[in-house]
Amino acid sequence: KNLTGNEIRQMFLDFFKSKGHQIEPSAPLVPIDDDTLLWINSGVATLKKYFDGRVIPDNPKITNAQKSIRTNDVENVGFTARHHTFFEMLGNFSIGDYFKKEAIEFAYEFLTSPEWLDLDEDKIYVTIHPEDEEAYALWHDMIGLDDGRIIRIEGNFWDIGVGPSGPNTEIFYDRGEAYGQNDPANEMYPGGENERYLEIWNLVFSEFNHNEDNTYTPLPKQNIDTGMGLERITSVIQNTETNYETDLIYPIIEKVEFMTDIRYTQDEYKPHFKIISDHVRTVTFAIGDGALPSSEGRGYILRRLIRRAVRFGTKLNFDEPFMYKLVPIVIDVMREFYPEVEQKAQLIQDVLKSEEARFFETIEEGEKLLLQLIEEAKSNQHELKGRDVFKLYDTFGFPVELTREYAEEHQLTVDEEGFKQEMQAQQQRAREARNVSSSMQVQNDVFNEIEVDSEFVGYESTSIQSTVSV
Ligand code: ATP
Ligand code: MG
Ligand code: MG
Ligand code: MG
Repeated sequence: KNLTGNEIRQMFLDFFKSKGHQIEPSAPLVPIDDDTLLWINSGVATLKKYFDGRVIPDNPKITNAQKSIRTNDVENVGFTARHHTFFEMLGNFSIGDYFKKEAIEFAYEFLTSPEWLDLDEDKIYVTIHPEDEEAYALWHDMIGLDDGRIIRIEGNFWDIGVGPSGPNTEIFYDRGEAYGQNDPANEMYPGGENERYLEIWNLVFSEFNHNEDNTYTPLPKQNIDTGMGLERITSVIQNTETNYETDLIYPIIEKVEFMTDIRYTQDEYKPHFKIISDHVRTVTFAIGDGALPSSEGRGYILRRLIRRAVRFGTKLNFDEPFMYKLVPIVIDVMREFYPEVEQKAQLIQDVLKSEEARFFETIEEGEKLLLQLIEEAKSNQHELKGRDVFKLYDTFGFPVELTREYAEEHQLTVDEEGFKQEMQAQQQRAREARNVSSSMQVQNDVFNEIEVDSEFVGYESTSIQSTVSV
């Protein structure tokens, strides 16, 4: 079918509305009343209040298109076809209403019915939890999938830390031999490299509550929680090589081409275009929803994403702020469904431009120092000292990941342990200097922890529990 990304989003909501679901608006990316998450990272994240019984919804059947940020996927961005830091998750939810049968029926109908997406049934594969015989029977007997298309995977148990959890079933689409020759049974492990069999939709059958003390108890009512990536399903419908050539993202890439005279078709630069177009979407929506770049927590993640995009931009020969000029393109694509981002257009551009300018100033100075340190390290210990890496971070705003990337380009390593110690010492000093109210203290401790965790898990993890398995 010939559909735009915007049409697919709307079609999804219309489909579930026709099945008696109430459409919930896309909630802000900065969680409200939830200090376990830095960012909304899925459709269900904004509906916790219904799942844990704090609030009873008017209608137990809900659907939404939820803007989401996942920083745990940042290393993949630019290098896989399917990962973003910002994406939209299309979901349908049942709060103690329908369960596995209807969830599977709805998903299959939406994907394959000629009235809706009309995908080729022969290209659908699913994974289930090995012990979920009910899901097996539904896929096999009710839908009619052969055994070869139903793959049992141990990891198919969904758990976001405290909150609802349970077995899940995932729907994959075979993009064809051009994307690989391998046996699907070896290809669908969660987080696998596979991109021929593209994971498009996750249906979670939540039956348990994951409690604060890490025990599991049955939920009073069984729930359904699903998520389908809009960019992925759009890439399937529009038959593009990656999500980035869909009409949701490609206009940004075209604008970068126009600004640089470098072509996206030049393979060596593809990741650069992808990273910039991904990160500018994230930053646009995050600032639009009230986040601001800073040196802590959420703001630090934002700063880090901006700097990462700028760094890739410098390789496309940008030597002055450029990302802010892409904001109008992002807004243009998204304004229809997300009018709030259009209302904040000026603020977003101003914040981004000044943050970029700041980084361009320090980058030059920092780079000089870094290259000097690299030369020194090359001729002796082949490792950048923790103290120096910290100085680059603290004075020149070079996040450790960035320094590590430079180091790796020169076959050097970074003294991670030493860097961590410097960070901890600084945070200790900051903590002692701070005299804050007790509730703020909690927030600050959360953020401090996030920054000192090894390998910067804080940056990779979206949850303070660090148990996110999504
Ligand atoms: P993958 O295995 O490809 O990393 P996932 O299993 O981590 O995906 P889920 O947590 O199941 O993803 O999220 C539900 C759906 O949201 C996925 O099936 C996918 O369509 C979409 N999705 C998840 N993460 C991303 C991402 N980083 N970028 C774009 N879409 C995503
Ligand atoms: Mg997966
Ligand atoms: Mg999944
Ligand atoms: Mg993932």
